Amino acid sequence: MKNDRVQTGILADHFSLLTSRRGFLKFFGVAGLAFASRGDLYAKGKPGNSVRFTKHVRERTRKLSVEQGRWQWIVGHHSAIKNGNAAIYDRAHRERGMENGLAYHFVIGNGIDSGDGEIEMGPRWLKQLQGGHVHREEINEVGIGICLVGNFEETKPTRNQLMAFRELMDYLRSEVVGKKIRFAVHREIDPGRTACPGRYFPTEQMHRLYGPFVPTNLA
Ligand SMILES: [Zn+2]
Repeated sequence: MKNDRVQTGILADHFSLLTSRRGFLKFFGVAGLAFASRGDLYAKGKPGNSVRFTKHVRERTRKLSVEQGRWQWIVGHHSAIKNGNAAIYDRAHRERGMENGLAYHFVIGNGIDSGDGEIEMGPRWLKQLQGGHVHREEINEVGIGICLVGNFEETKPTRNQLMAFRELMDYLRSEVVGKKIRFAVHREIDPGRTACPGRYFPTEQMHRLYGPFVPTNLA
């Protein structure tokens, strides 16, 4: 009897441990689900509604007059180097002879030389000038360039960078340039000339969100 009770006691202890472990798992499982579904909701989205990363972009862009039909493409890039920000790349591009400086319209930081997910607007966006981010001039003329800081042949973009990129894309498409704008990554525009934005940039996922790349759209 005594042994039984001891055993029962041990079992009871195991049981309570199990239930509390279950409770633990359940709690985190649910929390995880809530987190996942929030991420999912964000992915499917109410496009353009989130303002976590784009508040200042919206405020500034509201004051610009963005000519309807001016922009036909949005092109995704990586900087191919883990350091840098808009000012640093602007200097580098001027030194390379680009009189309008920073070749991209937007730069999204990785937490090293600007905030993690921080969106910087370049002079070409603020002045609504053509980009200098691809080799094909006809695409530069009508293509918005968005560069994520990092070398995505070697590392992944940060979670914040991707969230900022998506928020910026959703905002531009739903409120600024229209949803007909075509999305490409750099290597699709200049095949064989670059790996940009690198193998770890989620190119396929972005095409699922923003439409396929159709090469015949070029020209
Ligand atoms: Zn590029």
